[in-house]
Formats: sequence, C-alpha cells, structure tokens
Amino acid sequence: MGNAPYNGYTWQQRARILSAYRKLGGRSAPFEHVPCAMCCDPDRPPGKWHSEDYSEPYTFQPPQTYPLCKPCHGRLHKRFNAAPGEWELFCLHLEAGGYGSEFVRLFSLSQRRALSGEIAAGAKIKLLSKRRREPGPYWWRDLTLDPESLHAPWARPRPLRPRPDEAAFVEALAKAGLSEKEAALLRVHGNAPRRTTSMRTLAREALGDGNPQTANVIYGKLAARLTKMLGWIPDCRPDGSPAWMSVVAEGWSPPDREFEWSMVPTLAAAVQVSLT
Ligand SMILES: [Zn+2]
Ligand SMILES: [Zn+2]
Repeated sequence: MGNAPYNGYTWQQRARILSAYRKLGGRSAPFEHVPCAMCCDPDRPPGKWHSEDYSEPYTFQPPQTYPLCKPCHGRLHKRFNAAPGEWELFCLHLEAGGYGSEFVRLFSLSQRRALSGEIAAGAKIKLLSKRRREPGPYWWRDLTLDPESLHAPWARPRPLRPRPDEAAFVEALAKAGLSEKEAALLRVHGNAPRRTTSMRTLAREALGDGNPQTANVIYGKLAARLTKMLGWIPDCRPDGSPAWMSVVAEGWSPPDREFEWSMVPTLAAAVQVSLT
C-alpha cells in the first residue's frame, strides 16, 4: 500500500481498510486464486489487491476493490510519475493481451522510451496481440493522470462518510423553500467542473457578488437547514462546532488555490434532477 495518498484519501485513511478486511473475513487478503483484474494473469501472487475507494462502509469487490498482480499494481500507482506516454503504452500492452509481468521482458528500456515518446507526441501505436482477451471497456482505462486526484476530494468515488442519498436530497430540496440565491448557489456548484469550486467563485457566478463571505453566509445557512431536515449528523470543527457545509460538500486546501468545496455526488445528482 505504501505511505502515499490516493484518490483523495490520505495514507492513514487508506491504511484502515486493511484491518477492516482482517476483522471481517479472518483472512489477510481477498481474491484468493483470482486472476489480475488488469492483465488477467492467473498466476497472481496472493495478497495483492488494490482499492479505488476507501470510504466507509468498505467494499472488497469491484468496482471499489480489485485483485492485481504486482507489476500492474506498481504501474497503476506510478502512472502519475511515469514518463509521458508510458502508462498509455502499458495499457496498450494489456489490451494486446500481455501480462503485466511480460512488459519489461517484451520491451527493453530503450524500446519503452522510444514508444512512450511516440505516444506522447500523438502517434497511434498498435502492438501485436499476445493472447486473446475479453473486449473492453476496461475500468483501468478511465483512471486519471491528474496528480491532483491524489489529494482532492473530487477524486473520491464516495464521500469519506456516507451522505444522504439522491432521493433524500431531492425530497429535501423540494421542501426547503429555496430562495433564488440558494438555488443559484446549488446550481452553480453542482455544475462546476468536478463539482468543485471556491466560495469566491460561487459568490461571483451565483450571486454576482465579489465577496466570498456573502456566499459563505447564505450557503452555510442553507446547509444547516438541509442538515436538520435530513436528520444528518454534520462533521465537527476542531473546536467541536458543527461544520454545516459538510452535508453538501467535502472541502480541501489545494496547494496553489483558495479553499475549495467538492459537492457530494448524491446532491449533485439531485440538483440536476430538481434545479435544472
Ligand atoms: Zn496484472
Ligand atoms: Zn493500490
């Protein structure tokens, strides 16, 4: 697993899934005698598995958790730092029926460099088929190469803590008696790229106001109302006070931008249904 963040989870958050699995099954790892979920190599060493989703409740099945062989698992995590084109070359190798363990045997370092460079320059590469495999689509083809996904909450398939489901949000939005400003905040937020934006952008785009505090006050009051209507228990700030915004979004501090909020997927879906 390593001491690294992934998909918006810190390594500490990721580490908890291991003990959770042991408690559940009494075994040390899931997927005994199951082939690699990337390259289909049946000779997968036991104990290697990978999760895309470390939110509770944990699941130990695809599409949250997959059995992987060692080379595929290593390349999946190293894809962010790989030379341009190299992850794509590895994916093409898998699509051609190659096993993860065959990659460096079939392609020397200089060949890998040359082919990766061609791919990065936009060339279409076709590799010879090594063996038949089931046609796609393959889940690992949708994995992002954006290194921000390692830390950002938008990358989490589910919020860290379960939120109300879409139907509950749809009902709450219908009963909330939303003001025009509240509806505009929800609409702009739900339609932001990756459901993620800052209070400054929300204030400007939803309220025509340059002051992020204006959005903060209106959105905070709306979030408190929704929290109570939904009977949801909000996250707490370090001083113990309720973080009302937590029902609608997960926050994070990007290294080079203002604090951002990622609307939770179930609310974003409800906004699409209710407010467009
Ligand atoms: Zn594999
Ligand atoms: Zn992994």
